[in-house]
Amino acid sequence: MSERAKPKKADLMSKTLIITGGSRGIGRAVALQAADEGWNVVFSYLGNKDAAEATVAAVKAKGGSALAVQADASSEGDTLRLFDQAEAQFGAISGLVINAGVVAPSMPLAQMPLDRIETIFRTNTLSAFLTAREGARRMGQAAPSSIVVLSSMAARLGSPNEYIDYAASKGALDTMVVGLAKELAPQAIRVNGVRPGLIETDIHASGGQPDRAARLGAATPLGRAGHPEEVAEAVCWLLSSKSSYATGTFIDVSGGR
Ligand code: NAP
Repeated sequence: MSERAKPKKADLMSKTLIITGGSRGIGRAVALQAADEGWNVVFSYLGNKDAAEATVAAVKAKGGSALAVQADASSEGDTLRLFDQAEAQFGAISGLVINAGVVAPSMPLAQMPLDRIETIFRTNTLSAFLTAREGARRMGQAAPSSIVVLSSMAARLGSPNEYIDYAASKGALDTMVVGLAKELAPQAIRVNGVRPGLIETDIHASGGQPDRAARLGAATPLGRAGHPEEVAEAVCWLLSSKSSYATGTFIDVSGGR
């Protein structure tokens, strides 16, 4: 028998997870897998009510519990309301996935208008700080707890001539993970990051390049784009007790890019 008890599915029963941006893409895949692992799932979305309802229905079809909350992650009031509703419905929060993020059309920095740069940093970075701050205030009651931050390989690659603003907005999150992991370790709250590479989701179309993941994915060492479910595996491992000694670290899910 191994020295360390193997985590069981029952470890996670009755635990509550908040995901920002769970209606589509990676957030949706995390919601579905986390439900399989026994989490009550509460997720926010920005405006796509149909997609949010479809994700709730998919979780419930698996026998899980889910609540969708329209909440702009870059709004402090909406963020407080998201946590309030989650606690009211399911009790103390012990998992948090900071996932909501956007890109913008490709261009060199020299051409970027101020409002675009502000939107990227507000939606990707400020929102993550607001959500993480709320987690730091409210989590730990149901210790041990876990926060997972969706960064990007762009944070390491810099995204020249595409979106340096996006890359830097994620680089700031990497720094937040390193610092916050140390701040929250005494409260048994672990903080880790996942850096996806080129993943097949709607985000590329929203940046004006629907074929981007498939096109650039072919040039990665593994020769293809990734799937949201492959990112969700890493996120759910970091949420689970299987990663109990990992904090302040990162998993790159990028096909070797
Ligand atoms: P996606 O398919 O475009 O989905 C984005 C999700 O975030 C949707 O549920 C959307 O809600 C929600 N959202 C957007 N802005 C929001 C806001 N202000 N407040 C609350 N929710 C908001 O994106 P994705 O590809 O899954 O990306 C998820 C995360 O992974 C992002 O942080 C992204 O930067 C990161 N990432 C993705 C890739 C990739 O290749 N896909 C690579 C590296 C990193 P609605 O449905 O209501 O719009």
